[in-house]
Amino acid sequence: MEEQAKNEIRRAVGKQIQDLTQGLSEFEERAQTVNLYQPIGRLSRIDSLTNQGILLSGISKSKARLTALQRTLQDIDDPEFGHCLECGQDINPKRLIALPESRLCISCAQ
Ligand SMILES: [Zn+2]
Repeated sequence: MEEQAKNEIRRAVGKQIQDLTQGLSEFEERAQTVNLYQPIGRLSRIDSLTNQGILLSGISKSKARLTALQRTLQDIDDPEFGHCLECGQDINPKRLIALPESRLCISCAQ
């Protein structure tokens, strides 16, 4: 893969990591403000539980994505980086910029 494409991917990954980290701390802050012991009605309690469930699943998804992105930054200098794990063809750099954790080319991913 060309150095220029790698640099673009690095930049894209860096930006996504930044956005995710920010989103994650907002998520965590909101999850903490859901106080299950406050004296509220049963229905609103179910509401907050549901909201908290959504927040927690958002948090765990963001964390998984963050890990994948950080791994991409480590892997990018690997000579194998950008090659499809399935067919060995080059993965389109545009795909890697949009979805840096892709390890399959677009035809194998389908
Ligand atoms: Zn492939």
